[in-house]
Amino acid sequence: TSDNLSDVCCKMSSPGPVGAHSDEDVICSLVQKSQEARNQAYCPYSNFRVGAAVLASDGAVFTGCNVENASYPAGLCAERTAISKAVSEGYTSFKAIAIASDLKDQFIFPCGVCRQFMREFGLEWNVYPTKSDGSYRQMTLKELLPHSFGPDDLSARYNH
Ligand SMILES: [Zn+2]
Repeated sequence: TSDNLSDVCCKMSSPGPVGAHSDEDVICSLVQKSQEARNQAYCPYSNFRVGAAVLASDGAVFTGCNVENASYPAGLCAERTAISKAVSEGYTSFKAIAIASDLKDQFIFPCGVCRQFMREFGLEWNVYPTKSDGSYRQMTLKELLPHSFGPDDLSARYNH
C-alpha cells in the first residue's frame, strides 16, 4: 500500500561502477545531488536549508535550492527551483525528484504548492523524501497528491 514505506539508506561512500548503474545507484546519486544543492540554499530568514534534484527521462539532472526573499511570499522552494531550471532547458518529462534538508529524524516532504507544481508533469513519477543521513522513501506523485487537478482537467472542458 502507499503507507508501506520502507527506509532505504544510501551508502554514499560506495557508488557503483561507472556505466553500470543500478536503479539504487541512480537514486543515491540523485539524493547526493539534492544534498549538494541544499548546501547552496539561500535562507537567511528561516535558516531551513532545502535542496532538490530532479531526474529527467533521458538521465539529465537539474538541481535547486530554496531561495528566500525579504518579501517572504516571493521566496521559492527548492523543488520548484529545480523543476523550473529543467523546464527552461527544454525538459518536461521526469522520472524522479529527491529532496534534502538538514532534518535528521524526519523525512522532508514537498509542500502542497510544490506537489501541485510537480503534478503538472505527470502523476506516475517518483518523489524521494530524504533524511540528512541520506536515507530515503519512495512515493509517486499520485500518492502525494491524490484526486489532483491537472492539465487533463483543463482539456476535458472542450469535450462537452
Ligand atoms: Zn514547496
